[in-house]
Amino acid sequence: MGTQSGKILVIGAGGQVGTELVPALRDLYGNNEVLATDLRPIPALEGQGPFEKLDCLNKNDLNQLIGDYNIKTVYHLAAILSAKGEENPMFAWQLNMDSLFHVLEAAREKSLDRVFWPSSIAAFGPGTPQINTPQDCIMDPTTVYGISKQAGERWCEYYFKKYNVDVRSLRYPGLIGWKALPGGGTTDYAVEIFHKALSEGRYSCFLSENTALPMMFMDDAINATIGIMEAPKNKIHVRSSYNLSGCSFSPAELVLEIQKHIPEFICEYNPDFRQAIADSWPKSIDDSIARIDWGWIPKFKLENLVKVMLENIARFHLNKEKTV
Ligand code: NAD
Repeated sequence: MGTQSGKILVIGAGGQVGTELVPALRDLYGNNEVLATDLRPIPALEGQGPFEKLDCLNKNDLNQLIGDYNIKTVYHLAAILSAKGEENPMFAWQLNMDSLFHVLEAAREKSLDRVFWPSSIAAFGPGTPQINTPQDCIMDPTTVYGISKQAGERWCEYYFKKYNVDVRSLRYPGLIGWKALPGGGTTDYAVEIFHKALSEGRYSCFLSENTALPMMFMDDAINATIGIMEAPKNKIHVRSSYNLSGCSFSPAELVLEIQKHIPEFICEYNPDFRQAIADSWPKSIDDSIARIDWGWIPKFKLENLVKVMLENIARFHLNKEKTV
């Protein structure tokens, strides 16, 4: 059992992260303790525990749910990600910023215990040192998503310093999991490639072969998220967002590792607009401050990440064939 008190609200629970975070939180704290919410119905989460439809742009509905369910902790995951954000920058800004303000204000007004809000490596930019990017450095993001994450980090720190809101944050790298498809980011190739390798034996990658980026297996991301939220308050010294590192690799390195399991797999490279976004991001991250402050240690390297992804996605495709 974890140390959390009061009920937990997860906003944007049906996405790539929420699909894995909600069951992990329910395992730890109990099914009825975790209210999953999303804009759309999420059948997989509705069977396990409480679920409500919630548009996080609606401040009144958010506050109503917090009151009705006696919520003490919020994980705010709803956002428009890097590639999708460029299709409608003004809406991405509105969703990413307004929803964060609604959550921070609710935390202040209702004295919530804790808030989790993820930032991203997208908060960095071309002026950032690209290798072993330090915790504190130049941050000049070029996408509306990255700008919203950088601004969000500043607002989280502001609410902590000014109002003592205990908001905690991680700069997630590209996340790779087998339970849900990604929602429109620049690192989505690193999930799609496994599905295509198994279903078609080939993949057309939208990044060039040597584009190394910081990545992380979803189990590590979930452990980091729960780890920072469980840490005692006096251990959290970074109130903007912590650098977080799993493993860094390029598409070519990922392809080589997949070919150890599927030798006939072929990948072509057809970079599109996402290449420029990837080129502006770090290649690897220095997360030593998270390790020192609250004991963060990643478990998954490229080799075991590929093995676990292929095993589980193969099962998924097998089950699909059986049900067709
Ligand atoms: P996702 O796009 O997969 O899921 C987002 C969810 O939010 C979706 O289920 C969507 O229906 C929901 N949503 C959208 N608008 C909403 C609204 N108005 N009200 C309520 N729900 C709404 O995103 P994800 O990959 O799960 O990302 C979760 C968080 O982690 C985001 O803040 C994202 O920026 C951050 N992050 C993710 C990655 C990654 O690789 N997935 C990397 C860095 C940071």
